[in-house]
Amino acid sequence: MVLEKYKQKRNFTSSPEPSGDATLAAERAKKAPRDGLFFCVQKHLASHLHYDFRLEYKGVLLSWAVPKGPSLDPKTKRLAMHVEDHPNEYGTFEGVIPEGYGAGIVMLWDQGTWTPEADDVDAALKKGDLKFTLDGYKLKGSWVLVRTGGRYPGGSGDRSWLLIKHKDDWAGDLDITTFAPLSVKSEGDFAEILADGNPEIWTSNRPAQGGETGAMFAKIIERALEMKAGRAAPAAERVPRSAGRAARGAEETKTKKKKPAAKRRTT
Ligand code: MN
Repeated sequence: MVLEKYKQKRNFTSSPEPSGDATLAAERAKKAPRDGLFFCVQKHLASHLHYDFRLEYKGVLLSWAVPKGPSLDPKTKRLAMHVEDHPNEYGTFEGVIPEGYGAGIVMLWDQGTWTPEADDVDAALKKGDLKFTLDGYKLKGSWVLVRTGGRYPGGSGDRSWLLIKHKDDWAGDLDITTFAPLSVKSEGDFAEILADGNPEIWTSNRPAQGGETGAMFAKIIERALEMKAGRAAPAAERVPRSAGRAARGAEETKTKKKKPAAKRRTT
């Protein structure tokens, strides 16, 4: 069954994530790669912060969890753990998963189209060497996903890939995750996405309690609650949403920069 793993892991009565429409999947599967296939990156604050990199192929979104996010520097290879295929509709999802698998906040961090650089995508995936071009808002140019494991097919090492930028006009040493931390859908940060939902849900039983992620959640929840309270206040007392955005973006950047690049597991 298509998307079997995706569906097994989730309870769609408690999660706002899309359950995946089979008709849509069949329709999208007919698209030829040269017509431009959808890609997205979702910044996902769950048990640990990571970036979910997704490429549309044959009616589903092939998915990799990239703990540190993509790097524009060809010398910086980013670990990308291959995870279960996601439905097409997931590609534009942004919101709050209150509990269960992947509980946390999902931000649509980048989206656009991708084009394979080789004719045979199946062969490239099987070989573990997929070269492609991205045309997103933040990510552009030539990239490669290379499988590093694969010594024991089907084993856990088989899931490890590296996401690497090729040298071209879109490569550089700009840290794209800190330079452009916000959503391409809502332009918001995690706190704004949470404030649009129900920030009270995690007054107790947060997706992460301690450590770096727990601290991030605490700060985000506090700001979301403030924003929600502010929105309920009379209009004259409100700070325009755009006024605080730049500052909040900078704050998120600063917080992330201060912290050492500790090894993180992905959800
Ligand atoms: Mn994720």
